[in-house]
Amino acid sequence: MREKTIFELSSPGRTGVTFPKSDVPEYDLPNEELLRKELPLPELAEVDVVRHYMKLSKYNYGVDLGFYPLGSCTMKYNPKINEDTCRLPGFVFSHPLQPIETVQGNLALLYEMQEWLKEISGFAGVTLQPAAGAHGEFTGVLMMNAYHKSRGDTKRTKMIVPDSAHGTNPASAGMMGMSIVVIPSDERGNVNLEALKAACDDTVVGMMLTNPNTLGLFDENVEQIVKIVHDCGGLMYGDGANLNALLGIVRPGDLGFDVMHFNLHKTFAVPHGGGGPGSGPVGVGEKLLDFLPAPLIAIVEEGDEEIPPLFGYYTPEKTIGRMKAFHGHFGAIVRSYTYIAMHGPDGLKDVSQYAVLNANYLAARLRNTYRIPHDRICMHEFVMEGSVPGTDVRALDIAKRLMDYDFHPPTNYFPLIVHEALMIEPTETENKDTLDAFADALIKIAEEAKTNPELVKSAPHKTLFGRMDEVKAARELVLCCWLPENYSAE
Ligand SMILES: *Cc1c(COP(=O)(O)O)cnc(C)c1O
Repeated sequence: MREKTIFELSSPGRTGVTFPKSDVPEYDLPNEELLRKELPLPELAEVDVVRHYMKLSKYNYGVDLGFYPLGSCTMKYNPKINEDTCRLPGFVFSHPLQPIETVQGNLALLYEMQEWLKEISGFAGVTLQPAAGAHGEFTGVLMMNAYHKSRGDTKRTKMIVPDSAHGTNPASAGMMGMSIVVIPSDERGNVNLEALKAACDDTVVGMMLTNPNTLGLFDENVEQIVKIVHDCGGLMYGDGANLNALLGIVRPGDLGFDVMHFNLHKTFAVPHGGGGPGSGPVGVGEKLLDFLPAPLIAIVEEGDEEIPPLFGYYTPEKTIGRMKAFHGHFGAIVRSYTYIAMHGPDGLKDVSQYAVLNANYLAARLRNTYRIPHDRICMHEFVMEGSVPGTDVRALDIAKRLMDYDFHPPTNYFPLIVHEALMIEPTETENKDTLDAFADALIKIAEEAKTNPELVKSAPHKTLFGRMDEVKAARELVLCCWLPENYSAE
């Protein structure tokens, strides 16, 4: 069973809009060929459209509906005040090509955001341009490359990436044409230092370290790692997408990292997951300051008690150029600005402390039922094995069965270094009742796996659609909004 598409609901002559009277004179088009002869738009009344989309929205699951412990994605509740501020008319109705004197408020906000992110991370400079985390990584890798080249150091072509890194790290370095050297993790989930030393030489661009790593663990030797990489002339990249455990507690810049991206759409409460705009600012230490993308927002004329400062643009000397039109995703930045302003320094520290507490509480409730291979104090998330001894129930089955208990499944089969991985990130915005209900459901599912394995292996049972053929969905992705005529679906 499937819903009719908006095209199938269409009926000739129905209409949902009334165009206002034109307030400009009519002209014939100078070139008729610019017009399409046919434009097969669906024809529906307003009520049909509203019902269609309302119905679809009810089949969806989101963080405003329930618990969403999708590891690495930080699906925290996004306060609605962020939506109010980013819709303020002054922001919405301004344009980046307006004269600079007329957008001083916007520039002040961007400037202050640069400053706040510097303070939070311990870096010397920040660009707000990158559109998302992976885009921030690519920006960072471009700067690392430019740094070495500017010193005439042209031998460096290798990027070191531990096997506990997020998958975007090797992908970003690969896009730059660098070769990837993978370093294994040790039994405590730290980077294997001997393997790292062996890999470091004068052909290394640097290292990309996800810390906390994808096991949810803070590398206990991070300062040694930074030193080893610096000693061979490499630069240290920090993947700061998951800053949710570190706010107000540790600053990557202080640890010696040279460059790091933030994911505003994770840690700093910009809604994500539906493919909407994110934001991946990048912070750099002194070594990379001159290479930041341009323009940066700067004070071009100091103010005094009566006159506010004049904000404008600044181009670093050896800039790698522009990474994004204008100033990046402004609306996303306004949301995060609001989030930071509402929390303040102490509030941000609370965020991280509760995020870590919640993850450790869940791990404590589950470790007698499921195996946690690297079982030590975790940060904002942890990874357990989604298998039940004595049964052939897999992580995928457990993930699907959780949907029958009204929970979004955790990230599954990632990271690759844990067998049948289920990666659980509760975030700080969940209360103890929710965490307990989730732990109870997972413990119940482990029982079901023993007493009624078919129930778990054929889940979900309560959702509108049953288990999808995931291979077919990936191989035969249907991306158009209407279905081909010969398409058949049960
Ligand atoms: C989400 C994430 C990324 C990638 O961020 P995008 O905005 O999805 O490109 C990179 N690293 C880590 C650790 C992440 O969790």
